[in-house]
Formats: sequence, structure tokens, C-alpha cells
Amino acid sequence: MKTKISIIPCSHYEQIDIDKSIEECLKRFGGIEQFVSAGKKVLIKPNILMEKKPEECVTTHPSIIRSVIKQVKKAGGIPFVGDSPGGAVSGIDKVLNIAGIKEAVLSEGGEIINFETEGIDKIDTDFNFLPHYYISHIVKEVDVIINLPKLKTHGLTKYTGAIKNMFGIVPGMHKPNVHRYAPGIRDFSEAIVDIFGRAIPVLNIMDAVYGMEGNGPSAGIPRFIGYIIAGTDAVAIDAVCSYIIGYKVDEILTTVIAHKRNLGEMDLNNIDIEGKNLNSLRIPDFIKPETSLSMILPPKLLQFIYSKIKIKPAINPSKCVKCLVCVKKCPVSAINFLNNKFIFDYNVCIECLCCHELCKEKAIVLKKSLLAKLFLGRR
Ligand code: SF4
Ligand code: SF4
Repeated sequence: MKTKISIIPCSHYEQIDIDKSIEECLKRFGGIEQFVSAGKKVLIKPNILMEKKPEECVTTHPSIIRSVIKQVKKAGGIPFVGDSPGGAVSGIDKVLNIAGIKEAVLSEGGEIINFETEGIDKIDTDFNFLPHYYISHIVKEVDVIINLPKLKTHGLTKYTGAIKNMFGIVPGMHKPNVHRYAPGIRDFSEAIVDIFGRAIPVLNIMDAVYGMEGNGPSAGIPRFIGYIIAGTDAVAIDAVCSYIIGYKVDEILTTVIAHKRNLGEMDLNNIDIEGKNLNSLRIPDFIKPETSLSMILPPKLLQFIYSKIKIKPAINPSKCVKCLVCVKKCPVSAINFLNNKFIFDYNVCIECLCCHELCKEKAIVLKKSLLAKLFLGRR
């Protein structure tokens, strides 16, 4: 039997139209009740990459998040919304505010969940290049995950969509560590698919109303695409969406690797898009990203560069009230309090930013290495 994907035209982000399009998408799968039942905890996982306004088309549009919260509540589910923004060194709350997501979630009666502060799980892998990594414990605490990616280009992986959106379950600045140990596209794509495999969403709803072309995922140009695209199979969604923006399906390694690992379908002949002609939806002039440094530099040099992107949490004594929450909650016990002094073990710290997110006094400062300042700005 073919894998079903629903592609519904949607030309703007007016709430009433987004609601209709998502309802229409879900009808194809028997409605939201097929995925969510009363009392179930539902993690809604948008793409909240960094501090960008909705119109910059970097983050999943808040109207889509609103609509999905309404759907989850209609089925009696409990909606939680969260992500770990890659560049959230100035605090996740600020990122959510700027992206319009905080207001959307709270006004619809959803709950914002902080991936950094919910505990982490160590994941051992079969890779020589990356023996382990960490993911937020929240993915184990919820009953189902609904993935809300944004259709964009990506400098390293060419395209970012449903599979790569789950990279957000890796907390805080631990993400650059994954890049560090998997600097090339092949290893990085393997790592991304492994992470995706730890938290497979039951449903994926792609924000493809406006996507991003050129130097995505954050420095490209917004581009009208005009669809909401939904399905239970993230691999099939990525196959279809990358094809729409002008790639051949097998150019996208995350799709190929996920398919090889039996995580989903990538053969367009085996994907049912309700009789639509996929070629007529194609945007062949969708601007592709420039070749990123990660594609050119030797892996050893890239590893060296990533090893220099460091964030070191430290305490501002003038703000600290010595509540010791940071000491108790650090998931790897990297903060010790001895003889009335805080001691950080930076060899143990995994840069998850839990302490920074939890400190109510804003007494944890993040000291950035020179390269971290360059990549993340001086915020
Ligand atoms: S959580 Fe903040 S206030 Fe409490 S001990 Fe840590 S740095 Fe100090
Ligand atoms: S000190 Fe602990 S809580 Fe803070 S960033 Fe490092 S690992 Fe995370």
C-alpha cells in the first residue's frame, strides 16, 4: 500500500485559512482523533531555530502552532509546545516571544515546555565518530509527538524539513558537539537520522506556505510555496518537499539514510499524493544554498573549529542568591558548591544550558569563546 501524503493549497497565514487547511489535511488520515486521544500528552515540536520574527520565515509560523493546539484540544489531548533553539544563548523565552510563539501557545491554552530543563538522556550509538549524545527527556514523557517543520534550504544538508527538525531534541549548545564529532555531511546526516529515530513523530505538518530559499536555514530569502503538507511518514514528507523545491529525492542524504533504516518511504512512486501531479507543484528555480564551509573544509579542520565554539556557564555573584538549583539540576553534575564557592567542571559540562534556563535570578552568565561570539553574536 502506498504512503499517504496530504498537500493542501494555502496562500497565507490568516488563522481561519490555516485552520481550514490543517483540518483538510487531517481529514485524509481520519482526523486528529486518529493520533490523539483524551488525556494524552502531546508534544508539538515546531522549528524555532532562533530569534526571528514570523515574517522572516525561519521559524514555523505561529498560526500553524495555534491551529494544531486547537486540534489537539478538540481531541481531548494536552498540548505542550517546545523546541531547543540552536542559538538561544539569550534565553528561550526571548526567542519564543520574538517568533510570536509564546503568545500563540498561551492564548490557545497550550503549555510551553523547556527542553533544557526537563532532564536529559544519554544515547549510546553504533557510530565510531559519535559514540554518544544527549537528548531532552521530555520526548519520553509525552505520549505522542506532532512535528511542525518549516520547508527551507540548508547549507550543509541542502534541505531541512521533517527529519532534521527533530535535531531540536538535542539540548542547548550540545548541538555543536554533534557537529563537532560529525563534521561532514555523511556523518552528520547519519547522526540526524539517529536522533530522529529516537523520537519519531506520529504526525508531521509542514509549514510550506512560505519557505526559505538561498542560504537557509536562517540567512536565506523567504519564498512563497503555498501549501500545508501533512503525513504520518516524515521520510515521505521530506522526499516530496525536497522534490517540490527542485532537488532529486536521492540528493538529500537524511532522506536516503532514513529510508535505508526502514524509517519511511522515499520512492515517489510509492507515495500517494491524492492524484496530484507532483511535477506541476515543482519550483525548479527555487534558489539552492551556496556551498557551505562545511562542504569544503577537511573534516579534521572542521572538528577543530567546532571544538573552539564553546560556551562556559559561570556565576555572577552579585545576582546569585545561592539557592543551589543549578547545582542540583545540572544533569551531569558539572557544578559543585564547596566551601561557599561554585566550581564548574568544564570537562564534564555538556553545554546543555539547563542552569542558564533554570536560574530565576539570571545569575548564570554564558562566557563565549571567540568563535562562539562569531557564530552566535555577542548577545
Ligand atoms: S540557580 Fe542561580 S541563584 Fe541559584 S545558585 Fe545557581 S546561579 Fe545562584
Ligand atoms: S553546567 Fe551543567 S547545566 Fe550548566 S550547561 Fe553545563 S551541563 Fe548544562
